[in-house]
Amino acid sequence: MEIGNHKAHAADTPSLVVVGSIGIDTIETPVTRRESILGGSASYACAAASFFTNVGMVGVVGTDFPKQHVDLYKHFQINLDGLETVPGETFRWTGVYEANMDNRRTLSTELNVFAAFQPKLPASYRKSPFLFLANIQPGLQLHVLDQIEKPRFTVVDTMDLWINTAKEVLIEVIKRVDMLTLNESEARRLSGQHTLLKAARALLDLGPKYVLIKKGEHGSILFSEQSIFMMPAFPLEDVQDPTGAGDTFAGGLMGALAAAGKVDETSIRKAMIYGSVVASFGVEAFSLDRLRAITALDIEARTSLFREMMSV
Ligand code: AMP
Repeated sequence: MEIGNHKAHAADTPSLVVVGSIGIDTIETPVTRRESILGGSASYACAAASFFTNVGMVGVVGTDFPKQHVDLYKHFQINLDGLETVPGETFRWTGVYEANMDNRRTLSTELNVFAAFQPKLPASYRKSPFLFLANIQPGLQLHVLDQIEKPRFTVVDTMDLWINTAKEVLIEVIKRVDMLTLNESEARRLSGQHTLLKAARALLDLGPKYVLIKKGEHGSILFSEQSIFMMPAFPLEDVQDPTGAGDTFAGGLMGALAAAGKVDETSIRKAMIYGSVVASFGVEAFSLDRLRAITALDIEARTSLFREMMSV
């Protein structure tokens, strides 16, 4: 697959639609603290997907959302027809990482304009073949799912907060998608099973054809009824900020899948390689800083290296 050669036209139906959070993050790592930087699951997922395909964003920001962030979305050629600006404040999130950079605590979540958001898909998005329901309230994910017409492949991501506070709606969403992606502790919590295999089986029983469990720096595992595929993460010397790695991984995966135009297990496995590679760049800096600096050539080069590392 040749990447980075698609052209975005604003009026076209995007190959991939992403709904998720768009937020202003404050992040503390053992090394440093960064205040009020661009974050949100949709920001990371759309930027990652944009290297592979035309992607349309669905989300909401407040009138306080800095113009420079919109300009950055434009730099990635993200279709912004589904981005609403409403009176009020943008979603905000604060998190702190422990010394191992793996465990993270949420210090605050302010839904702000997301609390009353009712996404309305622009007409041009409704026939999009690929849909990624990135992490946001399951009710909003359901609302988008209701408006899209016959997508070829739909994926949902979520987090602990929604498993704890909106489990029933979340399960309704999971029943209607082709793939569920979540991290290992979330898979255990949602399924009530301890081993990942049992957890994956219980989650597959809810309806999706695939369950993709993310294991942070240890990679990810794709489960289907008949198969298991394990993928490592690209080894890095220096991780500055793991925030958004899961969203970047899934966004890259969906972008690559949309570009491949085929949805079978082989194409999903190949797309997971691209997702991992883009995510590995993303964590080398805060926010979208590293993704902004790379090109399709960097992704191709690291993908070749990664494939070499995995071949026997
Ligand atoms: P991740 O590291 O993949 O969990 O994603 C981190 C991003 O998720 C941050 O940029 C946050 O703005 C965003 N985020 C944090 N909490 C939530 C939430 N409850 N709903 C939606 N997005 C969130």
